[in-house]
Amino acid sequence: AAEAVERLLEGLNPQQRAAVVHSGTPLLIVAGAGSGKTAVLTRRIAYLLAARGVTPGQILAITFTNKAAAEMRERVAGLVGPRAASMWVSTFHSSCVRILRTQAALLPGLNTNFSIYDADDSRRLLAMIGRDLELDAKKYTPRLLATAISNLKNELIEPDRATIDAESDESQLPRIVAQVYTEYQRRLRGANAMDFDDLIGETVGLLQRHPQVAEYYRRRFRHVLVDEYQDTNHAQYVLVRELVGHHAAGLATEADDADAGAAAADPDFTPARREDAVPPSELCVVGDADQSIYAFRGATIRNIEEFERDFPDAETILLEQNYRSTQHILSAANAVIARNEGRREKKLWTDSGEGDLIVGYVADNEHDEASFVAREIDRLVDQGDYNYGDVAVFYRTNNNSRALEEIFIRMGLPYKVVGGVRFYERKEVRDIVAYLRVLENPEDAVSLRRILNTPRRGIGDRAEACVAVHSEQRGVGFGQALRDAADGKVALLNTRAQRAIAGFLDLLDEIRAAGVQEDLDFPDVGTVVEAVLDRSGYRAELEASDDPQDGARLDNLNELVSVAREFSSEARNSVEAARDEGLLPEPAEGEPDPGSLAAFLERVSLVADTDQIPDEGAGVVTMMTLHTAKGLEFPVVFVTGWEDGQFPHMRALGDPTELAEERRLAYVGITRARRRLYLSRAVVRSGWGQPVSNPESRFLQEIPGHLMDWQRLEPTSAPGTRGMRRRGESDGLERDWTRGDGWNDRPGVRGGDRRPAPGSAKRTNTNLVLAVGDRVNHDKYGLGRVIASEGTGPIASVTIDFGTAGKIRLIPQYSGGVLV
Ligand code: ATP
Ligand code: MG
Repeated sequence: AAEAVERLLEGLNPQQRAAVVHSGTPLLIVAGAGSGKTAVLTRRIAYLLAARGVTPGQILAITFTNKAAAEMRERVAGLVGPRAASMWVSTFHSSCVRILRTQAALLPGLNTNFSIYDADDSRRLLAMIGRDLELDAKKYTPRLLATAISNLKNELIEPDRATIDAESDESQLPRIVAQVYTEYQRRLRGANAMDFDDLIGETVGLLQRHPQVAEYYRRRFRHVLVDEYQDTNHAQYVLVRELVGHHAAGLATEADDADAGAAAADPDFTPARREDAVPPSELCVVGDADQSIYAFRGATIRNIEEFERDFPDAETILLEQNYRSTQHILSAANAVIARNEGRREKKLWTDSGEGDLIVGYVADNEHDEASFVAREIDRLVDQGDYNYGDVAVFYRTNNNSRALEEIFIRMGLPYKVVGGVRFYERKEVRDIVAYLRVLENPEDAVSLRRILNTPRRGIGDRAEACVAVHSEQRGVGFGQALRDAADGKVALLNTRAQRAIAGFLDLLDEIRAAGVQEDLDFPDVGTVVEAVLDRSGYRAELEASDDPQDGARLDNLNELVSVAREFSSEARNSVEAARDEGLLPEPAEGEPDPGSLAAFLERVSLVADTDQIPDEGAGVVTMMTLHTAKGLEFPVVFVTGWEDGQFPHMRALGDPTELAEERRLAYVGITRARRRLYLSRAVVRSGWGQPVSNPESRFLQEIPGHLMDWQRLEPTSAPGTRGMRRRGESDGLERDWTRGDGWNDRPGVRGGDRRPAPGSAKRTNTNLVLAVGDRVNHDKYGLGRVIASEGTGPIASVTIDFGTAGKIRLIPQYSGGVLV
């Protein structure tokens, strides 16, 4: 056994080793990128099991990426087998959902089947509230209100407090926000729903209000480990503190009931500290203040910087050796981050040698940049040194992926974009998910109102308003109000609407019945989704439409059916496999039955960009934003868009705090690379409107010249354009606007292979002249209408409104095309 333990510590440097074996007091590991923080966390968990007799069920590990979670689970499974399943490894949000579902009986106004509202749901609810309170919709946008409320929640400020604080404030905004916040919380609870921030805040409240519950989790989780601690916000910090029970050391069990009673009677009641307590759990957090990139979500490096104050007996371990990158890459990263003020200087070194120089490239425009990236990847893979799966491409904002995708498709390079417009954010998918939510939580007002008249069934705005008023006046949920409406108890509702509402409720019952399976162990979510699509008439309506967009929507819904089927069958298989091994599946605490509708909805609500990161074995190039890249590493990394205005982002240019955050983002990006790093910028980049010329990123200038190998410094075809706005000249834009995937040959044809037919990549259509008002059809963007045209002859360009696909500027001469 001692040998096995020794093997666990093998290869660790002395500081890492100290961190793994540290016992008792809270432990903070601070270190720069790639120094093995996550690796130490994983190894520490293994060590706890192997050497210290800890069981997997006593461990709660918080990670940001699925990849890290999977690695931890795998390692633990290797040590203890299937018992590994009782270890909690997840994000803050998932862990909180598990706690809240288990303890739902203690949550005022919530049932265990509560809905989780995402940003879009929250904004819908805020829009309703704004209307009802007759707020100026231009001034108090749902987005602004959502941000303000989220900030308050991140600080654990409740509506009552916000209201009191606002009274002493001169300006009107805090008062409006407090008023909306109060109403928002009331309606959330009325709908048996929580938003994302509530998941954290309500768990904190639960643990603070119920010392017995806090103690239950403290007894259970003897070890709490948190990765990426620099990106925790205040609420998450308090959550960690409550979970480990540091401040409450000395709480006695016998007196819990009395304490709980007293606490219920007096909110300021603090239980006395007693000796025979559950001692605080062991806490181990790791982080790097230089990689804090979520300030806009309330994250604060204060949590790292004041860890020793928050936990007075804490120990801090610094790691200094980097195992990820070559010296050149590390030096570049250090040079950039060194410009930030007020940071703790770190000495990071590597013994992996200088490595290759960092390759720099100045492109004419984003398409030229994309084609440089694609060509270079092609070359690296051709040479046999790397696989596609070794390569990642990063950009500052999601919309930057498009130019890259176009060229990757054209060249046939396999890739995967992580993030962007997510599947579950598409309107049609959200509509069907809203049906599913209503089946699970009949009071979910936002979802009910979303599908009430989708597809149209004769329940108009007026009828909806009558039901809403009834719900308000009678103090009943929207679901109950609908039932009242069907019974003729809602004032001012005409009989036609009343009948339509009764029909809607019957439909929900019918779908519910159709979803019930013979074998209750394994409900099939796919069958439920099918039932929604068929019985609601949603599918029939799309099928009847001749709008190609609706065809694409049908495809997405069929995809949703397969996702749901797969979800249930996976659960079925894993439960059966456990049975075959003679293990009865342990009912996981706070988790819905595997394969159930509730489990499916939870997966959908908590899906994150990082869930989509393909594993190395997938053999595809990964594209993602710099934010999503946190914690990951790749042998070859391209970071694109090094332009002032792009990266650093426009809104950071005049703001030192934001600029410092952008610089940390640059540090994160550079330090993802293990062996080869490429940095590129485009002289001209078109955003949504005109192509704009941006100067070189100041961050790029901060990298010492001797680390760089500039493959191209000045674009040859765009002289004298620095710092100027340019219009669509023939400076390479022609080549770039040429769409390899082409226009449809026939109008009304949807979809099709996106790869060009051989030899079609440079297809041109010299006869095509488009005028404002023309309808066109394109197989990637579907139907559109020309809304503007500019110039004449070979460089004439048009802007086409493709509806949900956005407004896109093209040069039709080089795009081929068809008029509808
Ligand atoms: P980041 O700040 O980017 O999250 P990190 O500090 O978490 O980085 P890890 O991802 O844990 O760093 O480690 C970086 C790389 O170094 C990984 O490939 C890891 O396997 C490797 N590594 C860590 N420690 C050692 C070691 N002692 N010997 C060899 N390789 C190591
Ligand atoms: Mg890490």
